[in-house]
Amino acid sequence: MAATTVTRFAPSPTGRLHLGHAHSALLGWRIARESGGRFLLRIEDIDPVRCRPDFTAGILEDLAWLGLDWDGPVRVQSAHLPEYGATLARLSGMGLLYPCFCTRADIAREVAAIGHAPHGPDGLLYPGTCRRLGAAERAARIAAGEPYALRLHMAAALRRVARPLAFLELGLEGGPRRLRCDPARFGDVVLARKDIPASYHLCVTQDDALQGVTLVTRAEDLRPATDLHRLLQALLGWPAPRYRHHPLLTGPDGKRLSKRDNAPTLAALREAGHSPAAVRAMAEGAAPG
Ligand code: GLU
Repeated sequence: MAATTVTRFAPSPTGRLHLGHAHSALLGWRIARESGGRFLLRIEDIDPVRCRPDFTAGILEDLAWLGLDWDGPVRVQSAHLPEYGATLARLSGMGLLYPCFCTRADIAREVAAIGHAPHGPDGLLYPGTCRRLGAAERAARIAAGEPYALRLHMAAALRRVARPLAFLELGLEGGPRRLRCDPARFGDVVLARKDIPASYHLCVTQDDALQGVTLVTRAEDLRPATDLHRLLQALLGWPAPRYRHHPLLTGPDGKRLSKRDNAPTLAALREAGHSPAAVRAMAEGAAPG
């Protein structure tokens, strides 16, 4: 018998949901419901500056209004920070993390001095300044209370895994394909920020493993992040889910729907008198861009 399919919707409560979110949520929900699987809801709210409890309440309200139901309790990431801390301690014990004291200005200065600024999927690649600090200096700066982030020593992590990584992508035209991963393009990525004791990449990978997610459905702007997520899975001995990245929805102007560009929120569509069925049709029928 095939294993049960477990999908999830994992929004960050930084605003109200718009049609693009509804598209993503409906995709995961439908796959789970049509296969007799499970659909989970997770609130990715580790950033206390950008995330707000009233947006979390709005997400639950909007999904229920649309007619989506989810299985089991909602996992709220901010309630699990010690669990992410335990994973960081594991990675640290493997010698794969180092403290980084750099400010943005320090990094900009270093990059200017080097004369070239390679970029990865998350932006500027870290030039490695703090990787080269000695143990005594690290200890002294930590003891002095200097704030620090934790970065993954990418070269050491790749040496440890020592095999090519790939994932099964179900979201491409032309059918499923195994895609080779290139996590090195993230460089020494931050896994715990100075102000937040974890990062999106760490929490999303850990929770997908812990919650037994077998199929990650999300927008294709996150496909590059999967390369890094596969590396974390390999390092930590977590299973590899399958992935179905879907195209981003576009508005009538052909531009991708996003919060920033004032995509209509589900709340606004509801306010304007659209029924849940009509909004579902808009979210599922809108031409992907
Ligand atoms: N929390 C992420 C977001 O709202 C999505 C994470 C994911 O689906 O992997 O963009």
